[in-house]
Amino acid sequence: PTPSLETPLLRFLKETHARFGPLDEGEVASYIPELGKADPDHFGIAVATTDGHVYETGDTGVPFTIQSISKAIVYALALDTLGAEHVEATIGVEPSGEAFNSIRLRADNKPFNAMVNAGAIACCGLISEATGEAAFEMIRAALGAFAGRTLDVDDAVFQSERATGDRNRAIAYLLRTYGGVRGDVDLILDTYFRQCSILVTARDLAVMGATFANHGVNPVTGQVVASNYAVARTLAVMSSSGMYDFAGEWIYRVGLPAKSGVGGGIVAALPSQLGLGIFSPRLDAHGNSVRGIRTCAAMSESFDLHMLSRR
Ligand code: GLN
Repeated sequence: PTPSLETPLLRFLKETHARFGPLDEGEVASYIPELGKADPDHFGIAVATTDGHVYETGDTGVPFTIQSISKAIVYALALDTLGAEHVEATIGVEPSGEAFNSIRLRADNKPFNAMVNAGAIACCGLISEATGEAAFEMIRAALGAFAGRTLDVDDAVFQSERATGDRNRAIAYLLRTYGGVRGDVDLILDTYFRQCSILVTARDLAVMGATFANHGVNPVTGQVVASNYAVARTLAVMSSSGMYDFAGEWIYRVGLPAKSGVGGGIVAALPSQLGLGIFSPRLDAHGNSVRGIRTCAAMSESFDLHMLSRR
């Protein structure tokens, strides 16, 4: 590419990539053994605008598992396909203030919200209850529609999480004692583990973010993939709970609805403007990508993206 043709945004992305590239704090997730094999140096930054332009730098074509970022899209899918009332009766919208894998439920035994494991498993349970074996393909199609392409599953990560996922198994069985999930727990967990093992790139995350920012219309494909209601409510829960027990700090500093995953991805959205997708597998103690957080904070500051500071 000719440097003179670079937009200020692309130039900024490259500078930010160079600036945070040397940062080697944090550890690749290894509680799912297969995730421990990730190359810690991978680093990709992508921005997609609501008019369908994508700007990217670094390892934006490298596939990694979406993990918890899937929770946001599956929640939007559940709101749209099962009805908001039904979903909202089963899963709360309060921040938990706890780690993503906390087994604690609210005092009324509902999961706190759909961005932590308990709520995401309950959400998966609702979709499984309504659609049976078809649940996973429906979820895969929804994630693909947000990304604008067909997405594959990393079977090794799926098998690895299934083999070591006792904590999520415990959460699912606890939920079942209160009716928070009903039916076949193994099927629900398989669907959840598979959903987390879907492969995406940083570019995909940027387009997913832009689809959220564009009120449910994928700006690259033009497809309507979610309703404005589902998108707005999902972004609301992402704002309060998308970054786990760092969510308050995040919304204060960065000011964007966002969701992270232990694969090292972060998706963020500025409504009516853009989506951000970052991939860098070294995580901090909350399970959030270290370089991802720094990159989003730098972008928010430089381009005045904080949603509550926009004029
Ligand atoms: N599959 C992971 C789990 O359930 C997702 C967690 C995450 O990305 N925070 O533990």
